[in-house]
Amino acid sequence: MTETQAEYLVPDAGKMELNDLVQQDGLALRPKAALTLQQADYVLSTLWGVKERSQFYLGDLLNFCKETMGESYAQLIDETHYNIKTLQNYMWVCNRVRPNGRWDTLSFDHHASVSALEPEEQDQWLELAAKGGWSCRRLRDEIRGPKVEKEPKPKVARCPECTRWMVEGQECFGCKYDELYEQFEAQQTAQKEDWK
Ligand SMILES: [Zn+2]
Repeated sequence: MTETQAEYLVPDAGKMELNDLVQQDGLALRPKAALTLQQADYVLSTLWGVKERSQFYLGDLLNFCKETMGESYAQLIDETHYNIKTLQNYMWVCNRVRPNGRWDTLSFDHHASVSALEPEEQDQWLELAAKGGWSCRRLRDEIRGPKVEKEPKPKVARCPECTRWMVEGQECFGCKYDELYEQFEAQQTAQKEDWK
């Protein structure tokens, strides 16, 4: 076994620090030395974590500002170059999914998927997703449940005979009524004739 393999098989992630491995230089990231696969993996997951966490952080910050700043909060939102709908989505999710209900192994989108549910339900679904390694799509599908085959909605149309509304492909009640009424009238007339 080579030294590199041994290193990778026995991860020592506790000792790793992002700033020891890479230099964050404005909009550029510069590795300080050649990275092992394990180190690159560490940098990748750390940076990915920053991206995921920032959505929660922005949402929490703006919810806090909304509560405490009143009018100025609207100004804060207006003046950002971020998409307002995106920020409002962050705020909604952070408002709905309380901090101790959040899983750092799941993406922001996982949390967004359960944000319309009650806290107990959120907990159950997020736990299932985290422990099952579900994708966001899988989580949404599971929440939605098995697709129920819906009966096609009956089409309603004007009857070409009597112009009343009828269900397409079925007998027209309007015409049926007219027919029965005609029969009834004919009977009445016949009876009257008999009594004469
Ligand atoms: Zn009809």
